[in-house]
Amino acid sequence: MKTWKKRTKAVHEGVRRSQYNEVSEAIFLTQGFVYDTAEAAEARFIEAGADEFIYARYGNPTVAMFEDRIAALEGAEVGFATASGMAAVNGALTSMLRAGDHVVSARALFGSCLYILEEILTRYGVEVTFVDGTDLNAWKAAIRPETKVVFFESISNPTLEVIDIEAVAKLGHAVGATVVVDNVFATPVFSDAIAQGADVVVYSATKHIDGQGRALGGVILGTKEYIRGTVEPYMKHTGGSMSPFTAWMMLKGLETMDLRVRAQTRTALYLAQQLEADAALSHVIYPGLESHPQCALTMAQMEEGGTVLAIDAGSQAAAFKLLNALEIWTISNNLGDAKSIGTHPATTTHQRLSEETRAMLGITPGLIRLSVGLEDPDDLLNDLRGAITQL
Ligand SMILES: *Cc1c(COP(=O)(O)O)cnc(C)c1O
Repeated sequence: MKTWKKRTKAVHEGVRRSQYNEVSEAIFLTQGFVYDTAEAAEARFIEAGADEFIYARYGNPTVAMFEDRIAALEGAEVGFATASGMAAVNGALTSMLRAGDHVVSARALFGSCLYILEEILTRYGVEVTFVDGTDLNAWKAAIRPETKVVFFESISNPTLEVIDIEAVAKLGHAVGATVVVDNVFATPVFSDAIAQGADVVVYSATKHIDGQGRALGGVILGTKEYIRGTVEPYMKHTGGSMSPFTAWMMLKGLETMDLRVRAQTRTALYLAQQLEADAALSHVIYPGLESHPQCALTMAQMEEGGTVLAIDAGSQAAAFKLLNALEIWTISNNLGDAKSIGTHPATTTHQRLSEETRAMLGITPGLIRLSVGLEDPDDLLNDLRGAITQL
């Protein structure tokens, strides 16, 4: 591994230049590759070298550039790029689990992650125990000698609970479990998850890596043994690979990600601080605020609070009124985007959950998730303040 810092890696790692020595990475929009001889084809199917490709579902030069770059950023041995973040979450888990296995997962999850753990894995005979991810005693009580996988989002969506990667990984490793972390909200910029004990890190590249709302993508990062031996056979035969065009967009996204994410994070902290005292809001949640129960952990684990905050308008009617009064903020459900986005989780991303589950997870009727973009911080604040005064 080179000694380059993340910002240098984000611009230069993984480059594979063609015979034309292009500056910007080439897009290899090809499904397959030609062999010089029948013997060469046979040899490549037995074992392909690092720069030998067979079929784009198995691998492609543009996709390999993205995989190498993001793996270098995260400090992982290798990565496998996927068609979406959910293909990555599903691939990371399903590729290594079988009937009879036991999984312990944090309960506060993105809706589709919860669907995989609650509906799909259990359908195939995997037992899943859900715990309050912020409660180390709950993890300790749920993890058993035969637990195969421990899964959690390092910052949960949408209530922004922060999970202690090092402590949970220690508990998982004590029984030989693989620790899988969905790290979307932490972003590759602030993540040190592998050094902190995660065995596998999963990203939805749709979020901060692209950061401009153009494409779906994902990536699974881990050891060479796990990615090549377990993930790759599953992904390449089931068809969830990333397209070369998407990989090219994600490569270019990585080059500007540090600047974007740091600017968005600065604005998120500013907005959280400015809104915290607002009497019209029942509360403001942001991991970088001192009032956040895991603020100290957030600072130790990732040094910044990230690009997303949440506010509570008190009721669904007030939340809708606030969202509808916004001019700059768009109503949508992406996050990490250059455009600032407001989401009402209870009626959209987390609509499928029962009212009791939503209440248990803290997804109140008035909760609004705010993904902070690249606009002027005061324009964003004034837009929010204008909407709040209408309540
Ligand atoms: C968005 C998201 C996903 C899914 O990613 P897609 O690219 O939309 O498939 C998974 N986990 C978390 C935490 C997310 O925010």
